[in-house]
Amino acid sequence: MTELTCDELDALLPELFDGRLSPEVESASLRHLATCDQCRIVVGDLERVGEMYREHGRLTLPDDARARIRAILEQG
Ligand SMILES: [Zn+2]
Repeated sequence: MTELTCDELDALLPELFDGRLSPEVESASLRHLATCDQCRIVVGDLERVGEMYREHGRLTLPDDARARIRAILEQG
């Protein structure tokens, strides 16, 4: 799969944090977050996304982080 653009990632965020993306798309989304400062700002204080992704190959968000992201998205 090709690299995601910032707009594409933005559109995928709700599904990403709901865990509803296919593994391929989820992986591409996390790879984008790991390398894109702009999108990491969008997702708030999850600065460790890139680090976690490199350490574990995938990201497992704690429930409180999911709730926080959802709140940010709903404000948006
Ligand atoms: Zn981006």
